[in-house]
Amino acid sequence: MLLPDVIACLTALSDPGQRPGAERALARALGADDMVLLVVDPEIGALLPVPDGRHSTLPGGPQWRSLLDRSKATGLHREFVPWQGMATRVVACSVRGMSALFIGGDVSDADATVLLGVLPLLGATLSAQHQAAIARGELAAAKYELTQSSALMRALDHTRREMDEALRKLDTQARTLEATSRRAQEAARAKDEFVAMLGHELRNPLAPIFTVLQLLRQRGEWSAEHDIMYRQAEHMLRLVDDLLDVARIASGKLTLQLEPAALDTVATRAVESVAPLIEQRGHPLHLDVPARLSVLGDTRRLVQVLTNLLVNASKYSDPGTPIALVARRSDDGVEIEVLDRGIGIDPKKLGTIFDLFEQQKRGIDRAEGGLGLGLAIVRNVVHLHGGSVRAESRKDGPGSRFVVWLPLVEAEPSHDSPMPLTAVPRAAHGRILLVDDNVDAATTLAMVLESAGYDVRIAHDGPTAADIARQFDPAAAILDIGLPGMDGYELAGVLRRSSESIHLIALTGYGQPTDRRKAMRAGFAAHFVKPVDLEALCLELNGRLGRTSEAKSVVDAPPAGAG
Ligand code: ADP
Repeated sequence: MLLPDVIACLTALSDPGQRPGAERALARALGADDMVLLVVDPEIGALLPVPDGRHSTLPGGPQWRSLLDRSKATGLHREFVPWQGMATRVVACSVRGMSALFIGGDVSDADATVLLGVLPLLGATLSAQHQAAIARGELAAAKYELTQSSALMRALDHTRREMDEALRKLDTQARTLEATSRRAQEAARAKDEFVAMLGHELRNPLAPIFTVLQLLRQRGEWSAEHDIMYRQAEHMLRLVDDLLDVARIASGKLTLQLEPAALDTVATRAVESVAPLIEQRGHPLHLDVPARLSVLGDTRRLVQVLTNLLVNASKYSDPGTPIALVARRSDDGVEIEVLDRGIGIDPKKLGTIFDLFEQQKRGIDRAEGGLGLGLAIVRNVVHLHGGSVRAESRKDGPGSRFVVWLPLVEAEPSHDSPMPLTAVPRAAHGRILLVDDNVDAATTLAMVLESAGYDVRIAHDGPTAADIARQFDPAAAILDIGLPGMDGYELAGVLRRSSESIHLIALTGYGQPTDRRKAMRAGFAAHFVKPVDLEALCLELNGRLGRTSEAKSVVDAPPAGAG
């Protein structure tokens, strides 16, 4: 074959479009049946058919592997290999980076050698094309990756936007929740304030009712009807006091005046306060409280605890069934039990019975009454004392058992004697200025004081009181605190400036230790809570103003629960 023909074929082979035809032409020209043009792939180092050639794949098998292996070396290689089902002679003309396989026929050494001389011309072109193809492939791969990553970015962006949206919704929900909880807190605070105000407002009208009743008793104008009125007013007062206590508990303002308190005194006072109810319902009461057991406590509040439990023991039992109040030492504390033979406690309610407003199922008549406050107050007061309280149904028959545990103290109890049930205040004289914007309360209290021998003037506001004081020169002034315009504290200052010796007594609906301290700081010598314990008020006035020579009973019995 002539060299120019070979070069023309090689030129055509370098053009992918003419490659299949040129392969056939070159094979024929060299006397072969077919040819395959191979190029070395730089990445894997193996000979692969060039793209766009007549054959894109080669058969496998050991002969082909051996031929292709040897064909990587420059020179001529001959081998019989299987081709289209027959062992066929193949001549490989190899130069650096490529090889031309001539299949079948009879290729002379001379032609093969000529080809070998010029084949490097084609080798450089094929290598360049192969690199370009790889580069195109890599570019396509890069493009694909870019497309993928931008799709990923878009997906991420979408997810981020969704997350932002979810976060925004969460934020809105959190803000709504916050606002709802603020509103709920605000509503709870408003409710507590309302309950406190309601308590004070309900207490105010009770004051003149008690005063009038005591005046009637004092005058000997007492009847069975008055007994009923007194009992009902007392019941009302207890409910109002419970409401006030619940408001104090809710606002954390329930405070104790702690001192060593003798338990037998506490028990006796509680029994005294429920005596009318126990008597009316005919309960035999078993009282077993050993002497010399004392706790560090607020006597008035501990009496309230036992009173609430005893009242319940009676309310939730049939008349005539027995009730017991028993105390005993237990390790470093004291256990006080209130037992009854009544309806008992539903086991399902044992965990909640001390919660506010919690009540057991009851008949439609609600014969027992009540607001569900008593046990909540009991638990709170007991906890403030460092103690505990539990309820259970009795195991030895019907009825309930309430057990209060309080820590014991070894100190001597103070002998702050219980309020006497009967007292004999002395007849008195002296000028008293009485200031209260509740006209009925002022009028009825003035009647009592006048009947005790005092000379009383009434005012319903501060400026009028100051005017009267200038002319009347009272020895004592009893001042309501919640007066319109000038309040009781301010009025106390005005009165004190015009008379150094005036005895100032506060008479108010606010009876917390802080209220007492505030009154003392404002110059008051004494502080009484409405409805006032008339006997105690008279004793206070007498101690300061009264003559002690003429004995006369002003009040036969104090209002239970007052003061
Ligand atoms: P109230 O008696 O005003 O309803 P309490 O807080 O004192 O409120 O009592 C809550 C509830 O506990 C009562 O309504 C009653 O159902 C139940 N309870 C209290 N004491 C007893 C008792 N001794 N026996 C049976 N049930 C009781």
